[in-house]
Amino acid sequence: MDDVGGKPGLLERLDQGAVICAEGYLFELERRGYLQAGAYVPEVVLEHPELVAQLHREFVHAGSDVVEAFTYYAHREKLRIIDKEHLLEQMNRQALAIAKEVADDTGTLLAGDICNTNVFLPDDDSRATVRQMFEEQVGWAVDAGVDFIVGETFTWGEEALLALAVIKATGLPSVITLAVHQEGSTREGWTPEDACKRLEDAGADVVGLNCTRGPKTMLPLIEKIRASVDVHVAALPVPYRTTEETPSFQSLHDAECDVIPDGRAFPTALDPFVCNRYELEDFARKASALGVTYLGVCCGAGPHHIRAVAEGLGRTPPASRYSADMSKHAFFGTDERIPQEYKEYAEKL
Ligand SMILES: [Zn+2]
Repeated sequence: MDDVGGKPGLLERLDQGAVICAEGYLFELERRGYLQAGAYVPEVVLEHPELVAQLHREFVHAGSDVVEAFTYYAHREKLRIIDKEHLLEQMNRQALAIAKEVADDTGTLLAGDICNTNVFLPDDDSRATVRQMFEEQVGWAVDAGVDFIVGETFTWGEEALLALAVIKATGLPSVITLAVHQEGSTREGWTPEDACKRLEDAGADVVGLNCTRGPKTMLPLIEKIRASVDVHVAALPVPYRTTEETPSFQSLHDAECDVIPDGRAFPTALDPFVCNRYELEDFARKASALGVTYLGVCCGAGPHHIRAVAEGLGRTPPASRYSADMSKHAFFGTDERIPQEYKEYAEKL
């Protein structure tokens, strides 16, 4: 089951070492001008499939072991809000086909993806609606031949359990990650480690956290999760400098900037808070030392962040060919061919 067409599956790879999964397609394609912040629906998979394929390829080039189909927020509720429910199936099947082509070309794993529905509530009507939303998306992922399925960014522990149940029914491996906001617990009040333990007990193959928190405010929660479960643990922070006072990227405020309402940086003025690549490399080392085996970066990630995670694990993906070598810089370089006068002028730059 976990060995599709001779290619080692997710669980086999995790037993051999870490697996890197790039995320953050919504934010990156929004930044590039092909997706609208607010509704955040991945219509780009229909309008510009070539750009989605290109971003998949950039992330693989930078070290991602997984091509995650861009079906995040391609669900019934999101499409209902933009009056495009009729595009639901087409959008999902197209996103999966784009991802499959890149995964096949590059020998990487193909992941299906379901996520927070934004309609879950702990009542039977909502449970039935959400289950149906998961079932239709998971069905399309299975049709596309995915290697495993990600259920991500859940703030309700119960919604995550529901996603897991639907994924498990397919027999495919599951990766279930929660988004933990300022309060530090799921919306029903479970601690992240308790929620992950429940997911493990319900049969999840990989449990952990993604999105919302930057490396600094995610790692302390991950440490507790690692100590509470036996299965593989996932950590995919957003690449932003969250702090104890503002632990989520939604809570970041930019006091320096007087041209955004209330100084709220989320989601389109987060630029001053972006982590540099060295911070992501450091995150990867620390997460790996904690025993995290499924690593990635979520909303805000660029290929340079993914490469930094790969390099933090001691890898040299194809993009490492272009990792910085400042020895040859015109002013800051140490190369003997650089004129001494230029080296001395570096202080004045
Ligand atoms: Zn995210």
